[in-house]
Amino acid sequence: MNHDVAAAINKALDGSDLTKTEVTRLFEIDDLSEEAFAIQRAGRLLSAGLSQGKAEIHGQIGINTGSCPMDCKFCSFAACNGVFPDASVLSAEDAIAGVNSMERQGVNAVYVMSTADMDADRFLELSRAIKDAMISDVPLIANTGDFSLQHANDLVDAGYTGVYHAIRMGEGEFTRIPVARRIKSIENAREAGLQVGMCVEPVGPEHSVEELVEKTLLTRDLGACFSGAMRRTSIPTSPLAAHGQLSYARMATIVAAVALATGAAVPGNCTHEPNGLGVFAGANLLWAEVGSNPRDVEAETVRGWTADRCRDLYSECGWEVLEGPSAMFAKTAMR
Ligand code: SF4
Repeated sequence: MNHDVAAAINKALDGSDLTKTEVTRLFEIDDLSEEAFAIQRAGRLLSAGLSQGKAEIHGQIGINTGSCPMDCKFCSFAACNGVFPDASVLSAEDAIAGVNSMERQGVNAVYVMSTADMDADRFLELSRAIKDAMISDVPLIANTGDFSLQHANDLVDAGYTGVYHAIRMGEGEFTRIPVARRIKSIENAREAGLQVGMCVEPVGPEHSVEELVEKTLLTRDLGACFSGAMRRTSIPTSPLAAHGQLSYARMATIVAAVALATGAAVPGNCTHEPNGLGVFAGANLLWAEVGSNPRDVEAETVRGWTADRCRDLYSECGWEVLEGPSAMFAKTAMR
């Protein structure tokens, strides 16, 4: 076993923050090496300890489709990818049916996702309708475009506990959104009392270790309540499709390395799409999905898993699943 890797693993398991050099070493490891399996085992031990052995399933509903001018090359809603030329928005009735269905399956949180250019007032209106019709007390999380402090406060008033907001791989280069704008939204969310989930995504084979380290440490430094890693799913018309997709074998090492790098300050460690290697290596947060999503070319996702299927995967990987509201989003937003 390489001494530097062993030292970094032990340091993370002891509850100390890793340095940038130590995190870099974890991401450099070959996936079939002794060190990679040690990283995966340690990621699992750390995640399980931070979540008391209880993994979570969060359910997301995508409420609209359309042609988004932010042009993130990895996203099926990006105008440049031409997948959804016509805009559509779910009716309140359909959105509520989708959310209630996921609640009946026992998700620990519900996310409402929209494209960045969806009208903010319409988003809030639908959100209030969903919140009023929820049949459980799981937290409501927004996954939408960048926002002002005023809008963050409006999200709290509409019943949101948190947001999902990531600084994506290639942000500002393969998207039309400057990194500073994404960070400002996260700061606005936190100032409004919203908790913030973010992860390292969407990762492709072309991404450097340097960028993986940078985006991982951002999730720790910006105070995420969960981190983790998601691979990019190829959209056939995207220029990024030429790079292909990362294997889940590689993702397992990355997910575990993210867990060790974000450490005790970040209890959640997600992976997406759901896969056994990542879950075995320490992912304690998976998503069920209904409605639209940015990895799909169908308006009603054919890629999204059900919560029951996620639960079965956790069981196969030796995890128990939390019942009731998410522990990662335990605090209620307050102003
Ligand atoms: S990821 Fe969001 S901001 Fe980027 S193109 Fe898709 S919907 Fe628009």
